[in-house]
Amino acid sequence: MSGGAAAALDMDLEERTIEELPERCENCGATLTTTEKQRILDEGASAALCTTCAGELTPLAEQEEDADAEF
Ligand SMILES: [Zn+2]
Repeated sequence: MSGGAAAALDMDLEERTIEELPERCENCGATLTTTEKQRILDEGASAALCTTCAGELTPLAEQEEDADAEF
């Protein structure tokens, strides 16, 4: 038995980087700031939302219901 298994644990959960996030909010299309992107990463949010949308949309309500278009 040789060591080294502990190092493999870090490989599974590769964190996303700010560069991988979309430039705009997926809900309203507002440009995301670096601060907002960092918050998204910190929260582990699946959707890239601006601060406003993140506050309005409940994280728990994943994507069961499509957002009603309000044009
Ligand atoms: Zn938004």
